[in-house]
Amino acid sequence: MSLFSTTYDVIVVGGGHAGSEAAAAAANMGVHTLLITMNLQNIAQMSCNPAMGGIAKGQIIREIDALGGYSGIVTDKTAIQFKMLNKSKGPAMWSPRAQSDRMQFAECWRIMLEQTENLDFYQDSVTGLLFDENKIIGVKTALGLSVKAKTVVITAGTFLNGLIHIGDKSFGGGRAGEGASKGITEDLVAKGFEAGRMKTGTPPRVDGRSLDYSKMTEQPGDENTEKFSYLPITKNLTKQRSCWLTYTNQKVHNLLREGFDRSPMFNGRIKSTGPRYCPSVEDKVDRFATKERHQIFVEPEGWTTCEMYVNGFSTSLPEDIQDKAIRAIEGFENVKFFRYGYAIEYDYFPPTQLTHSLETKLIENLFFAGQINGTTGYEEAGAQGLMAGVNAALKVQEKEPFILKRNEAYIGVLIDDLITKGTEEPYRMFTSRAEYRTLLRQDNADLRLTEKAFKLGLASQERMDCVLEKQRKTDLLIQFLEKTSVKQDEINPVLEGKNLALVNQSMKLFKIAARPQLSFEDFATIKKLSEFIEENNIDKEIIEQAEIHLKYSGYIAKEKSNADKLNRLENVKIPSAFNYQKVKSLSYEAREKLSKIQPTSISQASRISGVSPSDISVLLVYMGR
Ligand code: FAD
Repeated sequence: MSLFSTTYDVIVVGGGHAGSEAAAAAANMGVHTLLITMNLQNIAQMSCNPAMGGIAKGQIIREIDALGGYSGIVTDKTAIQFKMLNKSKGPAMWSPRAQSDRMQFAECWRIMLEQTENLDFYQDSVTGLLFDENKIIGVKTALGLSVKAKTVVITAGTFLNGLIHIGDKSFGGGRAGEGASKGITEDLVAKGFEAGRMKTGTPPRVDGRSLDYSKMTEQPGDENTEKFSYLPITKNLTKQRSCWLTYTNQKVHNLLREGFDRSPMFNGRIKSTGPRYCPSVEDKVDRFATKERHQIFVEPEGWTTCEMYVNGFSTSLPEDIQDKAIRAIEGFENVKFFRYGYAIEYDYFPPTQLTHSLETKLIENLFFAGQINGTTGYEEAGAQGLMAGVNAALKVQEKEPFILKRNEAYIGVLIDDLITKGTEEPYRMFTSRAEYRTLLRQDNADLRLTEKAFKLGLASQERMDCVLEKQRKTDLLIQFLEKTSVKQDEINPVLEGKNLALVNQSMKLFKIAARPQLSFEDFATIKKLSEFIEENNIDKEIIEQAEIHLKYSGYIAKEKSNADKLNRLENVKIPSAFNYQKVKSLSYEAREKLSKIQPTSISQASRISGVSPSDISVLLVYMGR
């Protein structure tokens, strides 16, 4: 089939993290999909640090996996180190993080995409969009092709009119060594879209052979590693590479200050806003002038390469300053550079211009996902890509959009935040953004989401079977704990070992399991229990589920009840063409904001900043409540 004669169901523009998930999702939904990207060698390239997951982001990767996306599988297959962050806190905070081999990561993504049915590839740059009135009908490319499509998903990342800065040099580019994307912004602005500029930056990469690790502290991965994918096709790591911790110091800070007058951040050449929680080193030195030192994590870029990522030293200062300042860090005295750090400015589209399905409000069948929506991070991009890919496919299939609620997934929180509140600085996910984080844990993303994805045709039968088996065994274990009593002479040694008050009668096992001071491991030696676990082939994951259920059921029930209350407001729909300007009893600010965002439900309206509880009461009356 020729590109010239085919009308694709879905064209995905850009093969980054969002585009790769979008292409996989749409194709797996059974629709004919084309991925057009500037360079097929750079599919799912990690533009910044070679790590996936982390606080709240790890939960997102597990959700992507539970829905049938590929990011979790690729991370597991290419990981060089795994850590479960926040393990000392409650399970709502546990966040998996893995470092991957950067080159293997991109290669593994490409192999998985090539093995996906219904997916075609084409290397070119999209330079314009084809419209029929207010509908998208295809794309134009740099080589002069017009490729037709029923829906288009744009995932252009940091490439739209990208401008790279190092010291007093600025040049066009979407990422180091790659050209910027021209034409898409201009076509969209001509159609009435609002565009903005954002900024991000990356640290230098150095030759690991030139570093003195004896002056740094080793940071090994977890002893007992876990993984991202719920599927058994990936395995826990048994061999890992360590990272190294060192610090900046006053000398480093003073050397950095010598370049401030040539810093594009400080001399006004960079005008846009960068990620608040990922500041450049010059920004840290400037803003926290009294701080003696900042952490620097030295992270390997892969199994075999000696290239090291200098996490914490993101900078766009001139090369000579980077060179001098980094040498003053303990262990970096004889460093050799592979690449200098740089900053990049790029266009984004305020995401309040989207609906919950990530389709644009102005142009039908056009979807946006990833950094183009003002987010930062591979995980945030991948999640949006998956949802945009699914929704583009559903649009083609003339089916209802797939929308995740805030109490169902971090992905639901992410998209709802973006389209309801918008963002003026690069948006990254945090656990604090989720009001139902006890429900949205990394351990239960499959239980929350896989059935939904299976019904859509996105998750495989194998995935669904894994979830059913996990649920069956968890229930079995909980029932056993609830009905089984153990004599005091078996329990007391366990309690004694933890300095807890002894008991003088037999006790049901669930009462022991529910105690916050005891973990399952402490009493797993109790004979009846150990026999049951062995006979029923109960693994660590099932034990964890049962333990969380018994210890946190009170909190979980409370959050569920709060979510149910709020979802009742979610069910109070607002008609799409509702004229807020006519409702004079709404405040002026509420009328303006509601008209702009066009919320679909009272619950969404209540989350718009500037819309007060009294505005909501007025709306409820209008909606007949
Ligand atoms: P990208 O990964 O940027 O992928 C976009 C893809 O689209 C590319 O493959 C590109 O070739 C392709 N493309 C673009 N335009 C076209 C076109 N017109 N036609 C065809 N193909 C096109 N994130 C963090 O969380 N923390 C950080 O500290 C951080 N620092 C960063 C520093 C730098 C210098 C850069 C560049 C990015 C940084 N990021 C950081 C962001 C992170 O890389 C992105 O959030 C993530 O990669 C976004 O994924 P995406 O799929 O939206 O876009």
